[in-house]
Formats: sequence, C-alpha cells, structure tokens
Amino acid sequence: MGVTFTLHKGGETGPRAGRLATPHGCVETPTFMPVGTQASVKACSSEDLLEHKVTMVLANTYHLYLRPGHRRIERLGGLHRFMNWPKPVLTDSGGYQVYSLGELRKISEEGVLFQSHLDGSEHLFTPEKVVEVQQAFGSDIAMVLDECTPYPATYEEAREGMERTLRWAKRSRDACGEDGELALFGIVQGGVYPDLRKACAEGLMEIGFPGFAVGGLGVGEEKNECLSVLEWMAERLPAASPRYLMGMGTPEDLVAAVARGMDMFDCVLPTRNGRNGTLFTHSGRLRIKNSRYADDLRPIDPDCDCYTCRNYTRAYLRHLFLAKELLVYRLTSIHNLYFYQVLMERIREAIETDTFPEFSRAFLRRFNASGEEGLGREMAQEDRGFSNQSEKSSKKIQV
Ligand SMILES: [Zn+2]
Repeated sequence: MGVTFTLHKGGETGPRAGRLATPHGCVETPTFMPVGTQASVKACSSEDLLEHKVTMVLANTYHLYLRPGHRRIERLGGLHRFMNWPKPVLTDSGGYQVYSLGELRKISEEGVLFQSHLDGSEHLFTPEKVVEVQQAFGSDIAMVLDECTPYPATYEEAREGMERTLRWAKRSRDACGEDGELALFGIVQGGVYPDLRKACAEGLMEIGFPGFAVGGLGVGEEKNECLSVLEWMAERLPAASPRYLMGMGTPEDLVAAVARGMDMFDCVLPTRNGRNGTLFTHSGRLRIKNSRYADDLRPIDPDCDCYTCRNYTRAYLRHLFLAKELLVYRLTSIHNLYFYQVLMERIREAIETDTFPEFSRAFLRRFNASGEEGLGREMAQEDRGFSNQSEKSSKKIQV
C-alpha cells in the first residue's frame, strides 16, 4: 500500500494523534486538507500553502478529468508536478460532483452516466474508470466511487445505495491491482441508519482498504444525527487505519469530530468564507465588510502570525473587499487556511498532552462567546448549510 499509518496516541474511540506516511512525505494527524478543486486552492499559490503549514491538499477528480483531462496531467508528469505541489495529494472519486454538478443521466450497476457541466458531453464513471483516472493523476490517496445517499432518504433507499457502494468498492479494489503507490480508501455510506453504517463498515473491512472515509454527512441531517454516525464509526472501524470525514469542516465540526476519533478532514469553508469576507479568529468570526473596521489598524487576528496578519490591517482589507480588488481573495484565504492549520496543530498538541477535553472547551468558549455580537452562532448555522458542498456546487444533491 502507498501509505502507512502509525497511531501514537488514542485508540478506537476518542481523540487520536498519528502520522500518515505517503510517497510524498508524512502528515501528522488529525489533519485538515484545503480543497484545490481545479488543482488550485482558490487564490493561493502552492508556495502560499507551504508557508502556512498546509501538509496535504485535496483535488477534485470530476473537474480535472473534464479539464484538462487525466491523460494530459499524466503526460505532464502527474498532478504534483503539474501544480508544483511537493506534498501529498488526496483526490476524491468525483462521485459527489457527478451527483451535484453534472447533469446526471443514469445510475446503473455499471456506473454513473453524466453530462459535463462544461460542454454537455456525456461520460461514464465506473469504479474501474475512477481508479484509472486517479492513477493517472499520481494521487497519494484515491477514493472509491460511491453512491452518495441523499438526505432525507428512506431506509430502503439508503440500503440500496450502501449495497451498491460496497459492490463498487470491491470492483475498485480489484481495479487497483498491484499498484504499490496508490492508496485507495473505502467510503462508508448508509445514511443515518446504524445497522446500514455498520454493515457498510464491515463489508469494506472485509474487502480490505488502508483507510476509511465517512461519506454522506453534512448534507442536511441534524447535528446529533451526524455525531451519532461518527460515534458508530469509531466503534466499528479498525483503530489502526486512518479515518477521513469527507467534506465537513466548521471549526466546531472539526473539534467535535476529532473528539469522536476522526483523523482527516477537508472542506471548502476556509477559502470560500475568505472570499466572502468572513474571517476566522481565535475569538470568533469577523465580517471584514463591517463598517466598524474602516479605521481599524489591527491585523485580522492579533494572535495570528500569517503573512496577511503580519503585513496588512483590517482597514486595508475592508477597503480591498469593498473595492473587489483581487488581492483581498488571496490575503483572506491565506489567513483562514492558516487559522485552520494552527487549530489542527493545537488539537494535536492537546491530544499528545492528554488535555484535549480542556482544550476543546476553552477553544469553543472563546470562539463562540466573542467575535462580532451573535455572529458566532449565526454564522455557524450558515456555514453548516454549505460545509459539504464543492466549490462550485450550489444545487442540492438529487439522485
Ligand atoms: Zn492571519
């Protein structure tokens, strides 16, 4: 397998700290991966990411398969070389974007037939095809094609989707052959039904994967339903394998999911919020367009030492934002991404020193209590609404 995972703190349930070794270097976990939809974390260069503690990025198979094409990326030396990113890359299976972005034609046992959102051309994603595409990218970690269970879904719908996900997982695993570089992760589906989630986890473990993702969350279910799924997963999935919670990531989500034994995260939230002018600080969320910042000479967060906070004031950023100057998108994205990386670093330190519960209470108290009045709770609710959408997706998943 292309990756090895060593857990050095924690076990099956509760917070864990570990190290994921990949062909492109090691990643300390729990870790947060920024989303580079089109082989680019929007508005940031690879150097910006490296300078701000990012150790792994996610790229979207659906988008890169359609443009510029996986064979072209392969000819150009693979995804790492193409985007000048020396560290690990995880690619998703494209399934989520097919369901949410593409004009879905038909799901059959063979795969998913869809129309490109770019030019209307018709494509078929099969489990084997999706593995082949990610092999051409040279991804460190690839994901199996799954059937995303919509929310709400009846038990019968969730069961059918879960069973197909398992059959596709087996075909994906077989398609990998003896590829020693590519680490393929299985995805647990099953909606909010405990026995389906459990059956899916067990089926995937039987097939055998070096890591497991929890999919189909953050799509509209209640927060307690989502947390319950994570708790069942922690009890079922093998302690020795990395666990990846797909597509969810408010700071509150990350803390709650780490507490329930998750190791890897990705979300468009820090970059999307950055571009929308909502900035994360250790004392809550801040909307840079607010008139109160017009003459504010402080950095976004006095506790932050990112490039933006070392060099620019709130007053200047507010001006750039209102003037829609392109620079603001880079500066705010850098800050938000760094906030996430520092949060993960502090989480790892707290786990290592057995102080995670205290850390998490103190972090959430400060993060939610202050900031702009009432903004914390209000924005957390807004964030939840799109925390599991791809960068360009605005449609609801319809299967
Ligand atoms: Zn900063």
